[in-house]
Amino acid sequence: MPVSAATLRIDLNAIAENYRLIRQQAGGAQVAGVVKADGYGLGAVPVAQALMGAGCRTFFVALFFEAMALKPAMRPSDTLFILNGLHHGAEEACAQLGAIPVLNSLDQVERWGATARRLGRRLPAALQVDSGMSRLGLSPEEAEVLVSEPERLHGIDLQLVMSHLACADDDAAPFNTLQARRFEALAQAFPHVPCSLDNSGGAFLDRGHFDLVRAGIALFGGAPNTGPNPMKQVLELDVGITQLRHVEAGATVGYGCSYVCAQTTRIATIPVGYADGWSRHLSNCGSAYIAGIRVPIAGRVSMDSITLDVTSVPEEMLFPGARVELIGPHQSIDDVARDAGTISYEILTQLGHRYVREYLPARPAPLNRSNQT
Ligand SMILES: *Cc1c(COP(=O)(O)O)cnc(C)c1O
Repeated sequence: MPVSAATLRIDLNAIAENYRLIRQQAGGAQVAGVVKADGYGLGAVPVAQALMGAGCRTFFVALFFEAMALKPAMRPSDTLFILNGLHHGAEEACAQLGAIPVLNSLDQVERWGATARRLGRRLPAALQVDSGMSRLGLSPEEAEVLVSEPERLHGIDLQLVMSHLACADDDAAPFNTLQARRFEALAQAFPHVPCSLDNSGGAFLDRGHFDLVRAGIALFGGAPNTGPNPMKQVLELDVGITQLRHVEAGATVGYGCSYVCAQTTRIATIPVGYADGWSRHLSNCGSAYIAGIRVPIAGRVSMDSITLDVTSVPEEMLFPGARVELIGPHQSIDDVARDAGTISYEILTQLGHRYVREYLPARPAPLNRSNQT
């Protein structure tokens, strides 16, 4: 490996531990792993396998092609839902794959029912109702149509009724209670079908969690809400310094000369840039760490490199190849997100493909805890 390569270490054991913590939070509810967008950028297959080892049997992806990629790595008894619903033209392929679409409209219900009749067998489905996101799912009026015309569900084996929270990361938001009430009322129309409302944030709300929690970001170490983060950090990203220089007071650094050195400054260049998911919004405001010492980003983030002001770092620690922490014990994904003006979800899903990825394996669960969901 060249000294300058950036290494992304993904701790599958931390993901398994986070899964177990969420299951404790969820009380009696089952906990599913949401591994859309290639497992939030960390690799859907290794992440799902680590979750299986921790007892997870239900998974969600967003798109049909994500289901195609993940299904072969799953056990036949595991369940895989497709959140974004039934893709036009993929109905029979979806049935054949054994992935379960989340039906988000009456049209999708109609097409899935027609597919079932054509194939001559009942097909499993989830149904999403909209309780306030106004994004995906049947409106309350459409849900009522389905209830008053149950023949529309002929051939469909409804396995889950679900909805999604808009403000779950804010445990004080009154909208959480409103959505839970609306969802309860909508779900009553399907009395024998398991219900799911909560994502990571929802799992940490102080109330019941229906039958199934759909956990994503918290598995990967992101804070589930605005309070102190109880999750284990999953990622370490570090990179070797490519080049070092002294620049004089008054010199500028990077594109647009946006950073002007107030004094003689030691600048280190690292080979990570916005093409690696290190947002340009971090120009002149993000940080990195060398041996625990904060080194601010000086100047604009380039496509393939970042310049750091390392003046405060002892000279003996500065040499080509010296390791710089971008994500790790001193800087969480939520820290990076705050500096970039975004959320940890976006930091994770933008992580680039030029990193050397190393997976630290999951260990078996401690014996005093049940391994079953
Ligand atoms: C992405 C997603 C989740 C997971 O949300 P997190 O906040 O990452 O836990 C759950 N449900 C739906 C419908 C989603 O789109």
